[in-house]
Amino acid sequence: MIVDSHCHLDRLDFDKLGLSLDDVLANARAKQVEHFLCVSVTLEQFPSMLEKISQYEDVSASCGVHPLDQKDKLDADRLIQLANHDKVVAIGETGLDYYYSKDTHQVQQESFAGHIDVANQLQKPLIIHTRDAKADTIDIMRAHNAQDCGGVLHCFTEDWAMAKQALDLGFYISISGIVTFKNATALQEVVKQIPMDRLLIETDSPYLAPVPHRGKTNQPAYVQDVAYYIADLKGISYKALAEQTTNNFYSLFNLVKRQDGRTT
Ligand SMILES: [Zn+2]
Ligand SMILES: [Zn+2]
Repeated sequence: MIVDSHCHLDRLDFDKLGLSLDDVLANARAKQVEHFLCVSVTLEQFPSMLEKISQYEDVSASCGVHPLDQKDKLDADRLIQLANHDKVVAIGETGLDYYYSKDTHQVQQESFAGHIDVANQLQKPLIIHTRDAKADTIDIMRAHNAQDCGGVLHCFTEDWAMAKQALDLGFYISISGIVTFKNATALQEVVKQIPMDRLLIETDSPYLAPVPHRGKTNQPAYVQDVAYYIADLKGISYKALAEQTTNNFYSLFNLVKRQDGRTT
């Protein structure tokens, strides 16, 4: 069995897909996906996201503000209040994205630091988004003791030097369908070096559908394509990759109840 460690189930275009959320989850379960972590991007939309997924035992939530959605100062009190919910197993996604935004660096940095403090306070792991902001991301993680709550750098596309620094802080690295892209040779080399016991897999759906689904709306069922690709890349069996990344998921997000009843 496998896990989609990062998806945005409330952002899927169900009309375009011609499917309901029930269908999307059923399709994924048929592809051996046993758990879904549905990731929040704004505090305003969090309550409705939670409502959409609340009936599903195999879906967990995170709570936080995406760096590109952080328009103003982080409302840390509100974050704490919302993130205290039982279904919330992680804080984020938070982080820094300098690729798409040149003028909000300071707002992003303050918000990121605020999320780390809340994660430490609530003892829930962090989901970190980082793009074109390697040094600042690591600096803020260190300055705010991100190693205490731990977490994951999700949809990782940076270099090995950064991966190594995050691994040294005890963090996990999550890989999305980007690794299957033809031009992703640098990332493929990085993935070969990530230790198996720190690796997670995700879709980040509805964005970034993996080969052979490129151009389509990404959905959690496609995390299986990511798993097959990485198993190949690492020269191990699909089964071994599935087992290890699933164990990793439950070790990191230890508030999630294991579907198969095992304890990691
Ligand atoms: Zn992200
Ligand atoms: Zn995301």
